Amino acid sequence: MPSRASANSIWRSLGSLGADTRLVSIAGKRFVTQSQPVPGEDWRIQYFTDWDTVLVTVRSKALIAGSAWAVLLLLLLYIRQRRLGIRARAEAQAAVEETLRHARDELERTVAARTAALTAEVAERQKTERHLRETQDELIHAGKMAALGQMSAAMAHEINQPLTALRTFLSSTRLFVDRDNREAASANFDMMNDLAERIAKITQHLKVFARKSPISFQTVDLSQSVERSLLLLDGQVRLAGVEVAKRLEPVPVAGDPLRLEQVFVNLFRNAIDAMRAVEVRRLEVVVAREGESCVARIADTGPGIDAEVMERLFEPFFTTKEVGEGLGLGLSLSYGIIRDMGGTIHAESLAPSGAAFVIRLPLAAAKEEEGSGG
Ligand code: ADP
Repeated sequence: MPSRASANSIWRSLGSLGADTRLVSIAGKRFVTQSQPVPGEDWRIQYFTDWDTVLVTVRSKALIAGSAWAVLLLLLLYIRQRRLGIRARAEAQAAVEETLRHARDELERTVAARTAALTAEVAERQKTERHLRETQDELIHAGKMAALGQMSAAMAHEINQPLTALRTFLSSTRLFVDRDNREAASANFDMMNDLAERIAKITQHLKVFARKSPISFQTVDLSQSVERSLLLLDGQVRLAGVEVAKRLEPVPVAGDPLRLEQVFVNLFRNAIDAMRAVEVRRLEVVVAREGESCVARIADTGPGIDAEVMERLFEPFFTTKEVGEGLGLGLSLSYGIIRDMGGTIHAESLAPSGAAFVIRLPLAAAKEEEGSGG
């Protein structure tokens, strides 16, 4: 039978948990005990609940409460986060809009500045072009003057010949008139007329050639340009002992007749100069139609053109001639003139020796058709 001491060691109060509720230990196991009076009796009912069960219940309640709190907390966090997100998005949107507005303003400013710069650039370019054209016209004139200077000696000789002949004819005609030989006098008059006409032709061409004229476009027969240029240089050709072989077909081109003549005079003079030191001096000029183009080919029997010279041939002021003999403008001006007429000019060195210059210009008829077609 258990003693009182052992009964006490079996039942041990561990503390009060509230009114009529205590935590006790019975045989080492903990219980929660609640006592309640039985109404109408002098009795009390004592309930025992296993502490572990109480703990489990309390824990699950705490867990549920904790979970509820956690959910609530998460919900609050979510709402806060959402608010923050909305605010951040609004701020980001405002920042983007601000950046965009800034960029737009910047772009507008850049476009305005670029437009102003471009307008200024265009104006500057137009001014430069005008200036260039004026300079080119000046150069063309200078080139013509240089050509004229070089031609003048030959021209003086050329004009002197018919003048001397005229004088001789005049004195002989006077004699015929004195002797009443009307027939001989009349024949002399015809000769003198021819001579005067020849002089007039030469001076007329010189006048036209030297005139400073703006570029004009008209239909020109390329062969006639060649003929007129050869006539201008007739004296030089004969003085230099150059044989001229021509094969000229009438071909219409749209161009400036005076400038075309200037081109041919330059090419013929260069050819004559080139053939100065060779024995066979032959100038071959061919003008023909090739498809929709007119081609003029001027070939000489000079020494030809070195590769080095060939590279720089059309450069302004490039010359291999002695000082005072060449300005180096002829070919560069010719190049500009032909290009302005929509054509091309190039040089070829011939085998075994000699050089050829080839000019290609669009047919005037082809141009007109193009114009009426479009
Ligand atoms: P310039 O006659 O005043 O020298 P050009 O521009 O007419 O100027 O010619 C430039 C150079 O091209 C000449 O100095 C010459 O060296 C070369 N050249 C031109 N035509 C011929 C040619 N037919 N044969 C050989 N060289 C030529």
